[in-house]
Formats: sequence, C-alpha cells, structure tokens
Amino acid sequence: MNKLLEKDFNSFDKLLHKIAEQGTEYFKNVDLEKTSLPVLKTSKKILNNEGIGGLKTLKLFNEKFRHTIVASSGPRYLGYVVGGTTPAAVIGDWLTTIYDQNPQTTTAQGDVSVQIEQETIKLLLNLFHLPNNFLGGFVSGATMSNFTCLAVARQWIGKQEGKDFAKNGITSTINVLSAVPHSSAIKSLSMLGIGSANVIKIKIEEGNRESININDLEVKIKTLNNKPFILISSAGTVNSADFDNFEAINALHKKYNFWWHIDGAFGAFASCSPKYRHLVKGWENADSITIDCHKWLNVPYDSAVFFVKEKHNLLQLETFQNSNAPYLGDPSENFNYLNFLPENSRRLRALPAWFSLIAYGKDGYKDIVENSVNMAQKLEEFILQNEELTLLTPTRLNNVCFSLKDKNKQDKIPLFITELNKEGKVYMTPTVYRNTKGVRASFVNWRTNEKDILIITKEIEKALKYIK
Ligand SMILES: *Cc1c(COP(=O)(O)O)cnc(C)c1O
Repeated sequence: MNKLLEKDFNSFDKLLHKIAEQGTEYFKNVDLEKTSLPVLKTSKKILNNEGIGGLKTLKLFNEKFRHTIVASSGPRYLGYVVGGTTPAAVIGDWLTTIYDQNPQTTTAQGDVSVQIEQETIKLLLNLFHLPNNFLGGFVSGATMSNFTCLAVARQWIGKQEGKDFAKNGITSTINVLSAVPHSSAIKSLSMLGIGSANVIKIKIEEGNRESININDLEVKIKTLNNKPFILISSAGTVNSADFDNFEAINALHKKYNFWWHIDGAFGAFASCSPKYRHLVKGWENADSITIDCHKWLNVPYDSAVFFVKEKHNLLQLETFQNSNAPYLGDPSENFNYLNFLPENSRRLRALPAWFSLIAYGKDGYKDIVENSVNMAQKLEEFILQNEELTLLTPTRLNNVCFSLKDKNKQDKIPLFITELNKEGKVYMTPTVYRNTKGVRASFVNWRTNEKDILIITKEIEKALKYIK
C-alpha cells in the first residue's frame, strides 16, 4: 500500500474529527459568511509526483480556498433558487459518502440501497400528497429530472404511431406545447433530439399571470389534428411562481391524447402546506412530474427526483434500457435503476433526503415552506412601502420580483444588483419580467428569519442611495 494512503488510513479518526470541527464551525456560523466574494484567478497548478497526505491537503485547501467559499447555503443567498441543508440532511450526506453505495437493483445480493431509494420515493409521494401510482428515482437535479420525464414522453409519442424512437431514432416531428417553460426543459428538448425550436407557444392568462391560457391551449391542440403531443406545464414559473390550472388541464387530458408533464422543481412544495396546497390541485393526474430536492427540500447538491406514472413503466424501461451488458443480468427479470434512468452508476442520493424527511416529518416541511413564504411576503411589504421600488408581479409564493419605480432608471438595475451584492450580506440575481429589467429574490432556505429580512432591506436601501 502507498505509504501516504496507509498513514491516512491509520489516522482516519483524526482526519474526520478535524473536518467535523471545521464543518460544525461553518454550519453554525454560515450567516456570518459572505454571500459574494471577488472572483479567483484560474490556477495553473500542476500535479506533483509525490502527494502530501490528507492532513496537509486539508491545510492547503484551507489556505488556498477556504476563504473563497460563498455562503450560498446561508439564509440571505436569494439568487437563483438555492436551498440550504438541514442538519439531518448533512449527516445523511456524510454517511452517503462513507457507505459509498451504488443503488441499482433490488435483487442483487448485498446492496440494499435501492430499498432506501424506493422508500424515500414513497416518503416524498406522501410529503407531496401524491398517490402511489407514480414510480420515481433520484437524479442530479431538476434539469435531469425534466430530461428523464421528457425522454419517456418521447418514447410514448413514438408508441402512438407504433414506433420505437429509443431503438430506431426519431423519425417524425414531435410537437411540444408550453407557455412559460423553465430553460432546462427546453435544453432537455435539445438533448433529446426533439429540438428546442419545436415548441408551440401557448398564450398566458390575462392579468399579471404566467400560467397557461386554457382556451388558447385548446385552440393550439385543435390545430394539431389529433396528433399526439407533449405538454410541459408549470408548478411554479421561475419568476412569479405562477401555477397552471391543473384541473382544467386534466379535463383536456381526458379529451385529447397527450403526455402531460409538470415541472414542479420548487413549486411542488406548495403542497406541503394546507395554505398553498390548492395551487397544485389536480396535479396528481399528470404523466410525469419534476421535483428538485436541493432547493426547497434543503438537502445538499446534487439531488432531484422524477415521478412517472407506473403505467408507463415499460416505456421508461425501453427508453433507458442498458441491455447490452450481459454481466448486469437479464433486464426483464429484475428491477434495476440503470434501466430506469439516464445514469448507470450513481451515489446514494436518496439518503440525505431520507434523513431529512424522517427527522422533520410533514410538519417540519410545512414549517419550512410557510416560513419561506412569510419571509417573501415581508420583503414584498418593504418593496410596496418603498417610494423608489415597484413590484414586477405579485408575490404568489416564495419569489419576489421587483424593479426601480422610475422607468428612466431601470437601466441601472445591473449596477444596483452589483452594489447590493458587493458587501456579501445578501445575494440576489437579475431577471427580466415582461421586458422590464428587475431583481429576483427566491426564499427556500430553512434558516431565513426576520433578522435576515432587516439586514436585507437595509442593504437594499444602501444600494438605492448608490444609484441616485
Ligand atoms: C431550478 C429549476 C430547474 C433546473 O433545476 P436544476 O436543479 O438546476 O437542474 C428546472 N425547473 C425549474 C422550475 C427550476 O426552478
């Protein structure tokens, strides 16, 4: 055995204690850490022949990089949609690393991590009040979840014409209908050979809405002359967190032949609270649903799930069949995740989610969701009261979109955001809503509290002075 490896193995307890200390320090005080930092120069380091061992590597990391870590898992990082990590999720994640399983099949001797993954899927269906006629699995993020769902949708389209697209390639145009899809769903269409340009745009509802106009949806469906298509709908558009009318879509789903996909990356969590559950009413009738775990579930990156109706199981297996490797066994004989989703090997992503779900239960997630929405509403109140600011859209759930009231000043939004983020006390990202430049703050971190809102509003006031 290599000497350094042996030395590290023998002092592994010391190494673990060191990072437990360092990890605890960071986790407890992440609210004091900066949310933005100057960008590092790209390193030109080359690899030595001789290593330096774990302890010195930790020291080197701390000297070189520790100070460059931004508090993206902290309470005032409101850019994009970035969740934190609950304490139980962290310990589940550390164990994921230690046990280092590769969840694939339920019947192989030894590895039972698939049971953990399947149990976690059931717990998540419970959490979201979804029925058990969905099967699911863990992927790296909502992008890959959208990809997985839309890949099965693609296979379904082929089947309607008696074709096997997974086997023979796509031989006809696939129609996709959507109103305000997330960019990652469009990217998935590119990756799937469906084509990102092949989206028929549905009008949105009147008023300050981003949801599908149901009348226009039916108009667009009729132009397809009964040709099967894919509908991508939203449980939470990324700007205004608007939800499509799932009951109305369900009525059309009964009348016309289409694959109904819902991207609920973060908005799915509305179902965790009786206050917001009405937003997803009827969503259980969809064919597939995307949900991110590294956002509002507050587990570490990288984690998301897909739910696909069990009745589409065969289509899913055809899509992801990994059958040309005899040593993996006969795919028809046992369930194996590698025939069910894009990756062959994966880490046990379910474990951090399992830990956090068991540790905090339905009530814990209800509290997290309701708290996030409360915090968003507090920021909204501040914006409504501020003379220089205006809301771009009402705050429906956890996202706040605002801009400068003075239209002549709106070009200064990038400058305003740079100034706002510069101190590293808060982090927000730019957006464009209906051709107006604005700022977006998304609340999904379990830690954010009223003290944070005070800091945030103070930083906004400071940045406003700067652009006067
Ligand atoms: C974040 C997000 C995605 C993409 O998720 P990743 O985890 O970044 O891959 C897709 N859809 C919606 C609605 C999102 O908010």
